[in-house]
Amino acid sequence: MVSRSQHGFHKPKELRRFYEPLGVLHELTMKGASKPRSIFSTSARGISIMQRRRDFVDAIAYIGAYRKGCEIAVAVERRPDALFVRVAGTAEIDKIVVPFLNNLLPQLSIILKHSAGDIKDDLNDKILVHLSDMVLDFGQEKIFAHYMKILQHIAPICLADMITDLNEADRDNLNFKAWFQDNFYKNGAPLLQEHMKPLARECLNAQQSGMFDLLREFTYQGHKHVTYFEKFYKQLRKLSLTIDMTSQLLESTISLRQDLANEMVARSLPSSPSLPIPLLPRKLSVEGIANRMFSNSSKRNDFLQKLQQIAPPGLSKTLVHYSQTVLTQVHPELLVMNYFDALSDGGFIDENDKYIGCTKPSCYLCHLFISYHPARYSSLSSNSKICLNWRLPDISREEYNAMARVENQKSILQQLINTIRNQLEEKVKNEWILQPHCAESEIEWMLPVDDDTFDYSPQPSSPQLTPASPIVSTGLITPRFDIDFNDASGSGTDGDQDAEDVVLFKGRGRF
Ligand SMILES: [Zn+2]
Repeated sequence: MVSRSQHGFHKPKELRRFYEPLGVLHELTMKGASKPRSIFSTSARGISIMQRRRDFVDAIAYIGAYRKGCEIAVAVERRPDALFVRVAGTAEIDKIVVPFLNNLLPQLSIILKHSAGDIKDDLNDKILVHLSDMVLDFGQEKIFAHYMKILQHIAPICLADMITDLNEADRDNLNFKAWFQDNFYKNGAPLLQEHMKPLARECLNAQQSGMFDLLREFTYQGHKHVTYFEKFYKQLRKLSLTIDMTSQLLESTISLRQDLANEMVARSLPSSPSLPIPLLPRKLSVEGIANRMFSNSSKRNDFLQKLQQIAPPGLSKTLVHYSQTVLTQVHPELLVMNYFDALSDGGFIDENDKYIGCTKPSCYLCHLFISYHPARYSSLSSNSKICLNWRLPDISREEYNAMARVENQKSILQQLINTIRNQLEEKVKNEWILQPHCAESEIEWMLPVDDDTFDYSPQPSSPQLTPASPIVSTGLITPRFDIDFNDASGSGTDGDQDAEDVVLFKGRGRF
């Protein structure tokens, strides 16, 4: 129960010191900048128990997100007589996700009644079919959304290219087109939501047979529809990803036999109320923001001069609009963290790896918050997206250790303010250098020398890390995974971010 919002504990002035530069950074990052690439952790598969525990909660977080836009976060709490799967999220957690999980988890317990030697090949396949039936039924709305996106926006362009492009019009392309017609339509009409289960299975088979690899041939630089082919590949993989994640759930369950000997129960964590972003419209002039960022007047003038040259038109107006419309929430991973912070006893299933499974990579601010948190939560992969609807977790005075946690938050807020200011300063400087007016001699002085490549991927062996720049400002991150998990999400103020998704072709499946 939240008796008092964070606004009661943090001074509005302090919060504005955070949200003002954040708003500007958000705008500059949106403006024509390529979207940072997502890095998803679980491809780096080990066989350690720690990795299996991560796989388990990652799989539940993916499977539980039953529709597009739904994001959930999951962690397992160990109690003496039971394991509680704690779930927080943006959708109907109480009425839809938790009841489903409480049907699914007992199925996993039944599997563990078989001895490890029994669960092989045939039986394993049967169990997987049974589980994935349940999971596909639950997630068909999400799969259907992926299907419709392919059918309406991607396939018409790509299939036309594949047939008319004489250089590429070989037998494989014709086979692919025939496969598509057979499976994506029924008697010439588009499929319905209830047809998603067989389609998902068919896409998994096709992917495993390498059928989708030929899409790679159309992703060379210079091809007119390269981004469509990248999306095509990615969306086709998304159709079968639910089965992959079910398989991951089954494998990790079997590996965690000892952990999961006790009864498992899913429980929801309360979602956060929406609160207006603490910005004051009358204070949102670019000059005012710069004044509050710098005490040194020459630095402020330099920043302001550069910002005025590179700012998108109507920046102040946009910020005023945000101040009147943006509602902040506590993101699901921070709801889970806040729950564990407030526990007077009990804790994570593994106190050495306080890992939270998430449907998608975390946003930049959640990533920073987790990095700065003194309780040393395991870092999560991040898409480095800058969300304005973010806020610090709410703390109630009645909760365990409330005042100490408030002090922690104040310290984290200071670090966030410093980081966001530095990021904004760096971003403005870099954008300004790209302007044609900048003299060469100045460029020599201005070029950033930082060449650190920051690794966002959480590895069990490195539970803490040093936060670094958002990827947008460095462009130095080396992407390593095939597919990002970024659907359009409700956690930002930008529109259809799918338009900017990036797919990487590595030619290897995750299973
Ligand atoms: Zn977040």
